[in-house]
Formats: sequence, C-alpha cells, structure tokens
Amino acid sequence: MALNVKILTIFPEIFPGFLGTSLTGRALKENIWNLEAVNIRDYAFDKHGSVDDTPCGGGAGMIMRPDVLGNAIEHNYKGGKIIYMSPKGQMLTQKKVHELSHEDNLTIICGRFEGIDERVLEEYNIEEISIGDYILTGGEQAAMIMLDAVVRLLPNVLGNAASTENESFENGLLEYPQYTRPIEWKNRKVPEILLSGHHENVAKWQKEKALQITKERRPDLLEKA
Ligand code: SAH
Repeated sequence: MALNVKILTIFPEIFPGFLGTSLTGRALKENIWNLEAVNIRDYAFDKHGSVDDTPCGGGAGMIMRPDVLGNAIEHNYKGGKIIYMSPKGQMLTQKKVHELSHEDNLTIICGRFEGIDERVLEEYNIEEISIGDYILTGGEQAAMIMLDAVVRLLPNVLGNAASTENESFENGLLEYPQYTRPIEWKNRKVPEILLSGHHENVAKWQKEKALQITKERRPDLLEKA
C-alpha cells in the first residue's frame, strides 16, 4: 500500500520541490507514495486568508491561529499520525524514520512565524518532530528532509534493497570508509585488504573501521548501543 502524505502549509508551492527529483521523484510518479500540499489559508475565516495573530502575553512575532489550523486539519485528516515539525519536538533519528516508513497516512503541519498555538497540539494529539537543534524559517524544509529519509526506505524505492543495511546509524554505527576506482589517485591507494577478494577479511576490516570512526566522532552512539 502507498504512503499517503498530506502537508498543511501556507506555502504549498514549495512542494514537491526536491522530493520531485531522483529516487523520491520516481517513487512519487510510480505512486509508491502520494503527496498533497494543502494551503492553510484556504481554511481561514476572513477574505484575506489570515492565519496568524500576535502572541498572548506579548513578545515578538506572530503565532498561527488554532481555529484556522484546526479547520484545515478537520477538513483534511484521513487517519494516522499528525506530526508538527518543531524545534521542540523529539529529534528525528533513523529509528523514527523506519517507524514512519511503515505508516499508511501522515499528516504533517508546517509552522511559520513563531510557531503554532499550543492548544492545537493538545486537541489533535499531535506528535512533534525536530530535525535538529537549530531554527529554520519554516516547517516545510524540515518536512521535506524527513520525507526524503522516509521515502527512500519504502519498498522498491532504492534499486538494491540491501544498500541500506550497512549505512550509518542502521546498526548503531557510522559507516566505514568507502572507495572506488581508480585504485591509485594522487599517490593515495585504496586499502590493500579491499582488493584482496577475501570477503571475511573485508567484512572484519569494515566492522573495525566502523567501530573506530564511531568511537572517534560519535561516542554517544556506542553508549546507546
Ligand atoms: N519560535 C519557535 C521557532 C519558530 S521557527 C521556537 O522557538 O521554538 C518557525 C517554524 O519552523 C516552526 O513552527 C517549525 O514548524 C519550523 N522549524 C524551525 N526549526 C525547526 C526544526 N529544527 N525542526 C523542525 N521544524 C522546525
């Protein structure tokens, strides 16, 4: 069954953007997943399509109104998870990406301005997901990155199904260094062992290198494993 994605945004023209190219674009054409970007402004209650108002209690910027957003959700929700892209959310990990790739429907809310009214999150039992500890101008970019990671895991999207198995994060480790031809370049040689044709030794070397690089760069991953 295809993954059906609904995006609630005030900039629907951003989609599919880069998701329309390469592997994710082909998967979209082949209906392995579907994408509909809904304009939240179409669910506003005035003729200007107002979606935001000033923050209660004062402060800078504007907040997206709960009534308009709620109206957009109620007219478009078809079941499954509702996700709000948010720097306050749980950090996106490859584990979460796998989990999302097994869903049938995803409704994704993209914030703008200073974010959305808190009551919307409570009312619709919305899950908040962050793509990292930095602030973007909008949730659209975050949603596209999350979807890129999710869609490449859907069946028949990657040519070689095995190609995800040894990737960084899949086994709690960063990936070992990779090489291709030419065997010698600027006096740098591909490690001898990779040319030996000895699969067991190669696998052992790759495992060691993966461990070493993870220890050096991301000891936190080893602690978790
Ligand atoms: N004032 C908010 C940030 C608003 S940024 C705060 O301090 O938490 C505007 C919108 O961009 C947010 O509503 C959210 O949808 C999106 N966004 C910004 N940074 C993000 C991140 N790291 N991950 C996911 N979405 C993000």
